[in-house]
Amino acid sequence: LEEGARSSLLRFRHKLEQDIKPSYLMDHLISDGVLTVDEEERIKTQPTRKDQAAALLELLLRKDNRAYISFYNALITEAYEDLANLLHGDLPQISLSALKGSSDGCTPTVQAVLSQGGVPQRPVVFVSRLELVNRVREKLFLVEKAPGWVTVFGMAGSGKSVLAAEAVRHQGIIEECFPGGVHWLSIGQLDKPDLLAKMQSLCFRLEQSMDSQSLHRTPNSLDEAKERLRFLMLRRYPRSLLILDDVWDTTVLKAFDIHSRVLLTTRNRALADSVSGAKYQVEVESGLDENKGMEILALYTKTEVCALPEDARNIVRECKGSPLVVSLIGALLKEKPNRWHYYLRQLQQKQFKRIRKSSSYDYDALDQAMSASIEVLPDEHREFYKDLTVLENDIKVPAKVLAVLWDLEPEEVEDILEEFVNKSLLFVDNHNKPYLYYLHDLQLDFLVEQNRTQLESLHNKVVHQYQQHYRDGPPHLRRCGELYSLMFSLDWVSIKARIMGPAHLINDYVEYGPVLDKENSDVRSHFQEFLSLNGHHLEQRPFPDVVQLALSQPHSSEVYRQALLQAQGGARTG
Ligand code: ADP
Repeated sequence: LEEGARSSLLRFRHKLEQDIKPSYLMDHLISDGVLTVDEEERIKTQPTRKDQAAALLELLLRKDNRAYISFYNALITEAYEDLANLLHGDLPQISLSALKGSSDGCTPTVQAVLSQGGVPQRPVVFVSRLELVNRVREKLFLVEKAPGWVTVFGMAGSGKSVLAAEAVRHQGIIEECFPGGVHWLSIGQLDKPDLLAKMQSLCFRLEQSMDSQSLHRTPNSLDEAKERLRFLMLRRYPRSLLILDDVWDTTVLKAFDIHSRVLLTTRNRALADSVSGAKYQVEVESGLDENKGMEILALYTKTEVCALPEDARNIVRECKGSPLVVSLIGALLKEKPNRWHYYLRQLQQKQFKRIRKSSSYDYDALDQAMSASIEVLPDEHREFYKDLTVLENDIKVPAKVLAVLWDLEPEEVEDILEEFVNKSLLFVDNHNKPYLYYLHDLQLDFLVEQNRTQLESLHNKVVHQYQQHYRDGPPHLRRCGELYSLMFSLDWVSIKARIMGPAHLINDYVEYGPVLDKENSDVRSHFQEFLSLNGHHLEQRPFPDVVQLALSQPHSSEVYRQALLQAQGGARTG
């Protein structure tokens, strides 16, 4: 640790020990790789919060500059701005991006703003597409002056989301253009209730970070949500940027047509025609240029570009420059570095061809890459991967949820998921602890397409496994039929919302309403009320504490009753 940084930690040690909550901060330190899980465990053995804080500081004093910067960032992210300010003066002169192995102007402040706004991190293997990024940044500078829309369009898997995130990872953009911050929203294909839920959760997020006291009524219609957002963006977050990732439908844009600054990614270049205001476009040409593709393969295989075999260039060509496909193949080669020719042949033979109705794009290369990745999985893991077909777009799940589905220990599940991640078959969000896993929308498309005939049995498996797991649930439920025992259980609500999102769950209650009413219409309405009030919370990731939410229900509600039981149980055991 540099002398300045060290002295500043020592000087403010007392104050820091008084105020900080080490458990929250350590999550960030671990995800930055400056603290190990063992170290965290050791700190947690200290009896009080203050002792833990002291132990953490003691440890930091023995670490390097990166640890100091990571600690500083964690303070900002956890809203200890005043403490962070104390440490600011002595921040060592390496930028946070150096820590992540990259260069341009990504300061700790930029990093904090991005992570607060939910902007995704760079993929582990990353190549810069500077010209393209600069083109997006130029447009962003234009909407600084007057509100408007910047559309980044291109085919699926061409790197639009990565590009959008990269464009805002820039000091000038964050500090000069959008001092009100940037707010990332994953859209995808969704219907109106889903869109409303997204807007509700955005309003909630924006209001939360202003002042946690304010208790606004949740907007209940798209129009109301649009008005609330208009107010928030105009009054509370002037000069901020909304990023709408993967928009399919003009309804979405119309809902955000509130005279603000929007960056959107889409496969449809004409999407913004339907909204008012200044418009700018950047096309992501369908391919990475060949050398960038080579660079990705080189990074995966830890080889110099010039030392790559002859087949490498052909592979890149065969992938038609799709960054997603190149990454899939790269991940395969990382494991089996002598299979260049084999994978090339697989790509060329197009033996996994299938028809895709809904789109005009050429997915062959992707399908082949996916199939090849799945092919090399051990048989049983292939079955596990297939189970992921039931995940909803944009829903991120922790290992624990899949542990129930697969009936395995969470640790075993983590190992399997890690394998998927390493093969680029799955993505991991390690902003959170526990880590959250999710599929790229193309991967999900692929799985759904491949397992189309088995969708129902896959869904049934989920229900069955959770029933097994909860069969020893509260006794008053055991005597009821299977449907009631599931749908009148708060655990089930929490699990299903986590895997499939709240919209499906609400839909279940509507669909099975008449059946459930025969058993107990009061309880049915308790659950439905709970969901309609809290749907937008259940969209949030990290996933909220459902028991806490349920405790704010009327005391006469079954939902409240179950939550109270759990809270009391929890208090007794932990
Ligand atoms: P899109 O939004 O166009 O569907 P993404 O931005 O999600 O595409 O990118 C798809 C995948 O391609 C990423 O998950 C990543 O593996 C790979 N990828 C995209 N851009 C890059 C890049 N600049 N460097 C390395 N890999 C990239």
